[in-house]
Amino acid sequence: MGKNLSEFPIQYIKGVGPRRAKLLNNLGIKTADDALYCLPYRYEDRENIKKISNLSYGQLETVTGKVIAAEVIKLPRSNLKLFELTVSDGSGLVKGKWFNQPFMKKNFEAGQEVILSGVVKRNPYWGIGFEFDNPEYELVTDDKDAFIHTSRIVPVYRTTTGLSVRQFRTIMFNLIDICIKEVPDIMPKEILERNNLPELKESILNSHFPEAGTDMDTLNRGISIYQKRLSFDELFMFELGLSVLKKGKDIEKGIEFNSEGVLVNRLLNKLPFRLTAAQQRVFEEILHDMRQPHPMNRLLEGDVGCGKTVIAIMAMLTAIECGYQSALMAPTEILAEQHYINIHKIIEDMGLNVCLLTGSIKKRPLEDIASGKINIVIGTHALIQEGVEFRNLGLVIIDEQHRFGVMQRALLRKKALNPDVLVMTATPIPRTLSMTLYGDLNYSVIDELPPGRRPVITRLFSDKQKDYIYKAIANEAQKGRQVYVVYPVIEETVKSNLKSAIIGKEALEKMFPDLRVSLIHGKMKPLEKESVMAAFKKGEIDILASTTVIEVGVDVPNAAMMLIVHAERFGLAQLHQLRGRVGRGAEQSYCFLLAYEPRGEDARQRLDIMVRTNDGFRIAEEDLIIRGPGEFFGTRQAGMPDLKIANIIRDARLIEVARKEAFALIDNDPELNRFPALKKSVEGFWRGKIELFKTG
Ligand code: ADP
Ligand code: MG
Repeated sequence: MGKNLSEFPIQYIKGVGPRRAKLLNNLGIKTADDALYCLPYRYEDRENIKKISNLSYGQLETVTGKVIAAEVIKLPRSNLKLFELTVSDGSGLVKGKWFNQPFMKKNFEAGQEVILSGVVKRNPYWGIGFEFDNPEYELVTDDKDAFIHTSRIVPVYRTTTGLSVRQFRTIMFNLIDICIKEVPDIMPKEILERNNLPELKESILNSHFPEAGTDMDTLNRGISIYQKRLSFDELFMFELGLSVLKKGKDIEKGIEFNSEGVLVNRLLNKLPFRLTAAQQRVFEEILHDMRQPHPMNRLLEGDVGCGKTVIAIMAMLTAIECGYQSALMAPTEILAEQHYINIHKIIEDMGLNVCLLTGSIKKRPLEDIASGKINIVIGTHALIQEGVEFRNLGLVIIDEQHRFGVMQRALLRKKALNPDVLVMTATPIPRTLSMTLYGDLNYSVIDELPPGRRPVITRLFSDKQKDYIYKAIANEAQKGRQVYVVYPVIEETVKSNLKSAIIGKEALEKMFPDLRVSLIHGKMKPLEKESVMAAFKKGEIDILASTTVIEVGVDVPNAAMMLIVHAERFGLAQLHQLRGRVGRGAEQSYCFLLAYEPRGEDARQRLDIMVRTNDGFRIAEEDLIIRGPGEFFGTRQAGMPDLKIANIIRDARLIEVARKEAFALIDNDPELNRFPALKKSVEGFWRGKIELFKTG
């Protein structure tokens, strides 16, 4: 056995060979090292296997016994087929049921010994008996290896066709047996001691094959002391990378913006409102960064409607006063256009020049940008990707960050003279979590809405209640308020069978002949969109049929009602963003969710949360729970390494610890010269993502 497990091909582990190596490769396991860190997704207690007669309803249980019958049953009045397995252990019978998987039959024969696990149910018709729906199963084969699979706590791994859980488990058992003594522990000793973390070898072993008597619940939640150690290691690598990135930035030279605040004060005098305390505090934080001789890297978080835009303008004016240009970057054309519409008048009234730059704008004032005549450029990422030359870009503001990650920000920095960067987001992420993901940034939050806002009243309707909805719309229009009606698609298609914005607009026109109905969607030309939005803003349109193009940034305080058609089709974050378009004035606003059947369980939960709360913070947390962190954050997109073992919700506390330790270590030893093996490992972990250590 060679020393370096991260270079030892899995193929040469006992029991693998070329065919299984391919299957394992597909699971992301190429080396012995990969396999050691491929943890089970759950564990079964086969030390104390229950008798079938002692099963409890509603519990997750495991039984073992012999197959009595294996039959495919055709369900009456439908095309569905049911595969039903009957198993006996001498004390009683249990049935396993698999819907629409008749091919399962070939896996079983009478007399075969099997292990089944799942949640115990009663027969739905008789109300008695023991059943599992879609249980997990394992065929008992290979008696010589029985000690691996029975009479102990056994790991259950995610596997793939062609490799059974049992084969996988045997491979893992052999692998650990052979390799465990070769695993080097590269973690600084004092960190382990300080945090009472166990040794690495022990932790790997116990995370795969836990000792007898380990608490099952702790194991299955992934929080045994051994699993914690492995999560810690991963989080530590992650945070080390972030701290190296941050350190690099803190010592980089940037622009010192020492403005007197003349332009900002002129703006504040013109505003029809006063800043909230939260807005003032956040602007101070930004100003503090801008005055440093290093580039600002700050994340500004705040729920929809909390007033981030004015803060952005104030920061840009600060840069302009010091003789620099600013750019405001949005993820979509419509949002960039919207910012332009909202901002350009104020800026131009102050005698400054602003332009819009998106992919579809033909006449680009490139010369005026290059000469410095233009003070502010508003646009999409076209702004950094194409050959736009600035005279002296000093500040970049990125709105709605979730689509811009570390990588894009790095690209941006190359574009200009180490500009200050402010990232704004309306996705209120719990603080520890945003630190994990954007841990190389400083962090500000506007946690207060402008005064006089009333929470939007949200109600859920089915399509039988449409009459009521139409009356409510007519009622609002009569009071002079405007209404958004949002559809999931632009056009109807045979397949989707969803209500569309185009047909919806026609229906609304028929329904409300006296009202002015208009349409906006993403396939329209930017100029068309702009003129529709401008007309809506001026109050020349009563009802605007739209798609989710209005999701971000549109700001029309007189719009006091929104109807979302097919609300069951939208994600939670999206619903919340959409709803954020109303409730921006002093009037009571309403958000009606019109949901059709069938609604899945997830949809039900989403709609329920929307009705219950307006709090974006809570919604983000619930969303995180429903969707899971990977999808929620789009981590991969953001150019960050994946977390395979740790879980940012479950391990929130551990993240803080890992972060503290990692940042302290880098503070003392910026290039990790005392820990060469650790350094190599961090580089490997972040490989291809970003250059961590510039020297060395
Ligand atoms: P978001 O944070 O979603 O980008 P906006 O910046 O679009 O929010 O602000 C939403 C609305 O609130 C705008 O109409 C803006 O003019 C208004 N607004 C911002 N700050 C205040 C304040 N301090 N008092 C009253 N209204 C404000
Ligand atoms: Mg905004």
